[in-house]
Amino acid sequence: MGIIVQKFGGTSVGTVDRIQNVANRVIEEKNRGNDVVVVVSAMGKTTDQLVGMAKEITPSPDKREMDMLLTTGEQVTISLLAMALNSKGHPSVSFTGWQAGIKTEPVHGNARILDIDTGAIKSELDRGKIVIVAGFQGMTEDGSITTLGRGGSDTTAVALAAALKADKCDIYTDVTGVFTSDPRYIKNARKLYSVSYDEMLELANLGAGVLHPRAVEFAKNYGLPLEVRSSLEKEAGTLIEEEVKMEQNLVVRGVAFEDDITRVTILGLPNSLTGLSTIFSALAKNHINVDIIIQSMTEAQTTNLSFSIKNEDLTETVKVLEKHREQLNYDRIEWESGLAKVSIVGSGMISNPGVAAEMFEVLSANEIQVKMVSTSEIKVSAVIENSKMIDAVDALHNSFKLSVSAVKA
Ligand code: ADP
Ligand code: ASP
Ligand code: MG
Repeated sequence: MGIIVQKFGGTSVGTVDRIQNVANRVIEEKNRGNDVVVVVSAMGKTTDQLVGMAKEITPSPDKREMDMLLTTGEQVTISLLAMALNSKGHPSVSFTGWQAGIKTEPVHGNARILDIDTGAIKSELDRGKIVIVAGFQGMTEDGSITTLGRGGSDTTAVALAAALKADKCDIYTDVTGVFTSDPRYIKNARKLYSVSYDEMLELANLGAGVLHPRAVEFAKNYGLPLEVRSSLEKEAGTLIEEEVKMEQNLVVRGVAFEDDITRVTILGLPNSLTGLSTIFSALAKNHINVDIIIQSMTEAQTTNLSFSIKNEDLTETVKVLEKHREQLNYDRIEWESGLAKVSIVGSGMISNPGVAAEMFEVLSANEIQVKMVSTSEIKVSAVIENSKMIDAVDALHNSFKLSVSAVKA
């Protein structure tokens, strides 16, 4: 007998019927003789609807109040699920994030979990109860309610599993596992039997929304086995673990993509020792996430610097750069929005030169212009026009033979 953490996402708890289905899946796990901790998301599109209402009141809602609002979504689900389990004869208790002892850094909207005091959960498990915890939320040292960023319930589940030394964490969702690419857009995407932590971390960071990147980080750091599986189908899902063999000598495991990217270029930036640090510290201080950075210093007195950000951060980025204009002494700023990033990921790339070359050949054969590039040992990303994103992913998915029928690794 061990501890199992199960997490059910928004679609999986989207209606009262679905909550009854979740209760049945929880009871099956409990009946296998395990202690069960369940983490749930807000029902269906609740979080989006709450964001929408706030935006109707003001375009830039106060971040503290936003967290107060969004955490109500998960609170609805935990109580309904506890009622469903209790009425099926399985004693259970629901906890908000803070009741579950989840302490976060004092950042609204995207807080990291610092520590979890599992005392309350453990004593309820000792009493034989099923414990249900609201995902995506925590509390700061001084008692403010925080959220972990969109999709953060995955992180609640994995962090709890790590803190409780659980045997396994199962992420139940609306697909049957992690696919070679998002099956909602790429029709011949194929389910993977297993993915390594590092590959999954890249895929999640590069836009594969099936898992919150920090959840994968936690799982990797604690060596916790993670399985992504369907809340409706009973088939085995995708195992995320340390070492995974490549299937059929494929070098690429999956293709990820994300849109809404803007490239910002600072022209005529004088070469100096401090220019880059001034720019990127100022952006970081304003919580602007910079992704790809391109700069190459030549003999000339000035240089051009390009970097990519999310579209939503453009106004703030321009504001920050203008504020430092005198100090930086650059010529002008330009930007191009409506861009997307497509990425190929696979640990087989390390020992296979020519993967990036094949990617660029595929893109050029499809008349897709590459605007920025970034690589790591196990991924290559290209920034392209938004309108070409799905065509690019389809072409890469085919070229790297990702839809060939699965062979168990
Ligand atoms: P939940 O509400 O259960 O957390 P999400 O919507 O956050 O569910 O994540 C599941 C969705 O992730 C799927 O419906 C799918 O469209 C998307 N997705 C993106 N990339 C992938 C991928 N590589 N494999 C599987 N699903 C993916
Ligand atoms: N309800 C939150 C969201 O929609 C957290 C989650 O579902 O993981 O982002
Ligand atoms: Mg999710």
